[in-house]
Amino acid sequence: MCLSEINGIHLNQSEVLLKFKSLVHGFTARTGGVSEGEYKSLSLSPHRGDDIECVRENEKILCKALGFDHKRLTSTCQEHTDNIKIIEKEHIGYGISSLWDEGVDGIITQLKEVPLICYSADCVPILFFASDIEAIGAVHSGWRGTDKRIAEKTVKKIIDMGADARNIYAAIGPCIGICCYEVSEDVAKNFERVYYKEKTGGKYMLDLGKINFDLINKCGVPKDNISLSGICTKCRNDIFFSHRAQNGKSGTLGGIICMR
Ligand SMILES: [Zn+2]
Repeated sequence: MCLSEINGIHLNQSEVLLKFKSLVHGFTARTGGVSEGEYKSLSLSPHRGDDIECVRENEKILCKALGFDHKRLTSTCQEHTDNIKIIEKEHIGYGISSLWDEGVDGIITQLKEVPLICYSADCVPILFFASDIEAIGAVHSGWRGTDKRIAEKTVKKIIDMGADARNIYAAIGPCIGICCYEVSEDVAKNFERVYYKEKTGGKYMLDLGKINFDLINKCGVPKDNISLSGICTKCRNDIFFSHRAQNGKSGTLGGIICMR
């Protein structure tokens, strides 16, 4: 994972996706936008209390920096579901200028020049590319989505579209690390023992990034095709929004990907 600056926007980019010249992708940082206070400054989700005009302006700034038409920006509508939608022409702009009528935590498309964005502030953002069928995806996977195996279901959906798992690539973006993600027993026990460490007082430290890595790998996607940022959003709240570090009042990062 490397931190790049593109026209004033800081992006974490993954080596596994950077090698495809037809792709533009990245996980945003806090910098470069117009929002204020807890949302300072590139807050991208309209559902966390930030001024909607600021979010719309931030979308425009991000799209302009990356050379995208912001009117084609298409997003999730995150409700911790395992709903995954395939974006066809009629869905362009959904989640931004038109509303989904249900929770959608994963989006996939084979359309070019349609930037897909998912949101996070500690949860796990994942970007996908299938090089053989030219499909991209953006997925939000918090602990509930991880428990519902949305990453695995996304890979299976891309395979159903005709891709070979060996040609699927996935970048897992900055999320809260096992260093900081303290959960109660009823959350931890949803997952295999190897994914959490027990602390005193009935608390557990959970490794969401690793669980998602393994969910993708178990579908046949080679380990070398999957990257884990290794960056903890709570530890690095100076660079990233963190729901936990900011006591639930934070802006939202974006995982964005587009095929040229
Ligand atoms: Zn941490």
